[in-house]
Amino acid sequence: MSTKESNKSPQPPIRFDVIARDGEARAGVLKTRRGEIETPVFMPVGTAGTVKGIRFEELETEELDPKIILGNTYHLWLRPGIETIRACGGLHKFIGWERALLTDSGGFQVWSLGALRKISEEGTHFRSHVDGSPQFLSPEISMEVQAALGSEIVMAFDECAPGNATRDETIKSMSLTTRWAQRSRSRFDQLQEEGTDSGRTAATDQVSGAQAIFGIVQGARHLNVRRDSLAQTVEIGFDGYALGGLSVGEEKSAMFEVVNEITPEMPDAYPRYLMGVGTPEDLIEAVAAGIDMFDCVLPTRNGRTGQAFTSTGKLNIKNAQWATAVRPIDDRCNCSVCRRHSRAYLRHLYLSGEMLASILLTHHNLAFFLDTMRAVRQSIRSGVFPKFRREFTERLNANGE
Ligand SMILES: [Zn+2]
Repeated sequence: MSTKESNKSPQPPIRFDVIARDGEARAGVLKTRRGEIETPVFMPVGTAGTVKGIRFEELETEELDPKIILGNTYHLWLRPGIETIRACGGLHKFIGWERALLTDSGGFQVWSLGALRKISEEGTHFRSHVDGSPQFLSPEISMEVQAALGSEIVMAFDECAPGNATRDETIKSMSLTTRWAQRSRSRFDQLQEEGTDSGRTAATDQVSGAQAIFGIVQGARHLNVRRDSLAQTVEIGFDGYALGGLSVGEEKSAMFEVVNEITPEMPDAYPRYLMGVGTPEDLIEAVAAGIDMFDCVLPTRNGRTGQAFTSTGKLNIKNAQWATAVRPIDDRCNCSVCRRHSRAYLRHLYLSGEMLASILLTHHNLAFFLDTMRAVRQSIRSGVFPKFRREFTERLNANGE
């Protein structure tokens, strides 16, 4: 399948084993140089080297316990900058997180800048959101930054077509993504040989200690463009494959048409990652299509704006109806916030502008996402995923609050 191996070691940088299947859904184990990750997995987003609103000690407790989090190349490259992170021994040492990290390529963040960026064959010119200075990001620079960060999983530098792009626009954009994927792969391989990866570890009998790199499938909502993108990406050869450019303004039905059609066609032996998605119900639907990995800012971002995810749907803590509600956020949740605090107290904290409101809501939201994924994995291993999926969705839609 691959035309190239990631390194010269006899071991691969990561190892992925599917241990149970239920329909298209799979439960697996992803072995990295910094620990094993059970899949399907939700990866909390640590944009600027922090999962906003929560300490790593707290994340590492059993009730949350993510084995991998995300770091953002774009943000860390602009601030504090790569020289600083390299001087501090790479991203793990700099932030004090010894578990696995996945870094995005910066392609999506730069794309999100809209009018502030200009894309050429060579890369993307844009203005920094920090100080307005002109900047340039390319596949080669993205690989150099991600080597300095030293993440376990590096993402290829891609270009994202808007959700409503025409077929012609999408083909043009997707072809550029393929050429950038080739350049990403070449520069990544050089950097691995040069030993510039800050997170390098000794090889084990399972993994090589090198970084892994995932390719990204683009093509907006156009299924045949997606298929061409998938074929071209697999032809280059990566350690895992991601679906990018979804949840970028297209209708949810269009997103799920792509997820449901394309995921089962992605290589079976490699991890499949749906980037930037989504709500708990989105995660479960995508697992049913065969996705193994997710990341999304929703639990942390919504936690900061007073919104909680619960087993019966979203809950706005600001609502007056919770003023004297002694119930927890979610009766079914066993997190430390739900065990101790009432909706009334959380509402009071939020309306008083207390930072603890964001901290507690973020904690609960992460617990809800991570618990849901634990239950998903368990249900696949026990062969009862369809029943779990049906009951989860019914409870959510019952909207009992
Ligand atoms: Zn809770």
